[in-house]
Amino acid sequence: MSAIFACREAVRLANQSLDHPLTLIQRIELRTHLAMCQACRVYRRQSRALSRTIARGAQAGLLVPVTVELSPAARGRIAQALRQRLTTGDQKDV
Ligand SMILES: [Zn+2]
Repeated sequence: MSAIFACREAVRLANQSLDHPLTLIQRIELRTHLAMCQACRVYRRQSRALSRTIARGAQAGLLVPVTVELSPAARGRIAQALRQRLTTGDQKDV
């Protein structure tokens, strides 16, 4: 197992552990990796702190659902840019 793959897997398991309990094997794999990798230890500590903060905010009613809608003008510009890309193959940023 390469170090890069191991970190990706450790991050995946760390994220999964925020929502669901890990299996015994997953916990062992994650703890083994964390024992050797400071970057993943920092990531896990920060992601857990962020998760706790969000949970406290939600419990306190501080989180409000946000709906973002584009203006008709913005929708028109995006549609026009997409049509132009489809017809000319132009790849410049919208
Ligand atoms: Zn790592």
